Amino acid sequence: MRYISTRGDAPALDFEQVTLAGLASDGGLYLPETWPSLSTEEIAALRGASYVDTAVAVMAPFVEGTLSREDLRSLCEQAYGRFAHAAVTPLVQLDHQHWLLELFHGPTLAFKDVALQLLGLLFERFLAGSQHHVTVIGATSGDTGSAAIDALAGRAGVDIFMLHPKGRVSEVQRRQMTTVLAPNVHNLALENASFDDCQALVKAMFNDPHFSGTFALSAVNSINWARLMAQVVYYFYAAVRLGAPERPVAFAVPTGNFGDVFAGYVAAKMGLPVAKLIVATNVNDILHRALSAGDYSQGTVVPTPSPSMDIQVSSNFERLLFDLGGRDGHALAAQMQGFEASKAMRLTNAQAGGASALFASDRVDLDDMALAMRWASEDAGQVIDPHTAIGLAAARRAGLPADVPVVTLATAHPAKFGDAVERAIGMRPGLPARVGDLFDREERYATLPGTFEAVTAYIAERAVARA
Ligand SMILES: *Cc1c(COP(=O)(O)O)cnc(C)c1O
Repeated sequence: MRYISTRGDAPALDFEQVTLAGLASDGGLYLPETWPSLSTEEIAALRGASYVDTAVAVMAPFVEGTLSREDLRSLCEQAYGRFAHAAVTPLVQLDHQHWLLELFHGPTLAFKDVALQLLGLLFERFLAGSQHHVTVIGATSGDTGSAAIDALAGRAGVDIFMLHPKGRVSEVQRRQMTTVLAPNVHNLALENASFDDCQALVKAMFNDPHFSGTFALSAVNSINWARLMAQVVYYFYAAVRLGAPERPVAFAVPTGNFGDVFAGYVAAKMGLPVAKLIVATNVNDILHRALSAGDYSQGTVVPTPSPSMDIQVSSNFERLLFDLGGRDGHALAAQMQGFEASKAMRLTNAQAGGASALFASDRVDLDDMALAMRWASEDAGQVIDPHTAIGLAAARRAGLPADVPVVTLATAHPAKFGDAVERAIGMRPGLPARVGDLFDREERYATLPGTFEAVTAYIAERAVARA
């Protein structure tokens, strides 16, 4: 399998190269050259399959030429063996039509673990025995940071620098990052910065020829293809349990960077019968405006109780626009440059039309988020986190036919956002025992101004230069 850039000018890469690179050298994102597909029989054969069996069947075409099925299986067994539930991503029924897909049974309590536990092992495997040293730079609104740090802490050949907006992540999220004291882990809290500011700094470092020439930079944000690939698996796993391939299933996805829901698009491209992908945003609604009115224009980020969705530039949306726009890299590069210059763009007719066939979207405000949390708790006995609640609110008012099962992706454990849950339902969820003494552990992080100069100077002093 070869991978090509959405902007048409970077070299095609194989799976190993695309995993280590993250962003393409022309500023684009990598995608498979063609979508592999699973036949109806192959999907039906996943009925009795374990999570790991499903993962191997879904991911094998994407790693072809780099990993054998046996190698892929052994990596998946290791990655998903660390999950606290035998189903890895269990389904929970809410009523006659609605289900939760619990994606938070990994070590850091959010769905990011599903992809990052595998990505950490892929990095280790690709770097083992080489002289190569990689500097991972990432931006986080909370969950990517902790999941990436857990996956990479102490691994040879890699340093990780994680930028977060100071004061804008929850205390559990911060502690999950800053209490990891492995010497290859570096946490940077940026003052007066939003997540988008942190992400823009990461992009600027990748695009700076001097900086990216000095260090072998790598990305673990959802711009990294391998992460999206790992997330495709649970769409198959859930849909098959609810009647696919005979019965189409809909998914409601609380969305920020469009990574998780793009994985659902990939599943549909591979042949999974998906009735609808409901893109749910909080009041930071650039994706809802783009999908409902063709208006992709950047607003100002408003901090909310669902911080992992407080985003106004949605990196992975570029992948969808590329695929829907006939995969014309140069046209997309021009469209994206227009957006970068004016902070606004219109979807083309082909993009808007293609998107409306599969996607619906909704914007959920604070009251409706709290109502969804209360409904889940009172009517279905489920305590859900604010991100999941945004997905569920959108799912319940999407108006899908009653015979279509609707699966809301439960992206975080409620205890990760205990304050917001307590405000909504009057009860504080307990932290699962597996995260242990998080509140007693020593924290370590640097506080820096959110400027390119300050951040690159800090990293340059501590990172290992290219050989
Ligand atoms: C990251 C995250 C999201 C948003 O996922 P994207 O892939 O960025 O759309 C939603 N909920 C939680 C809890 C998250 O950590």
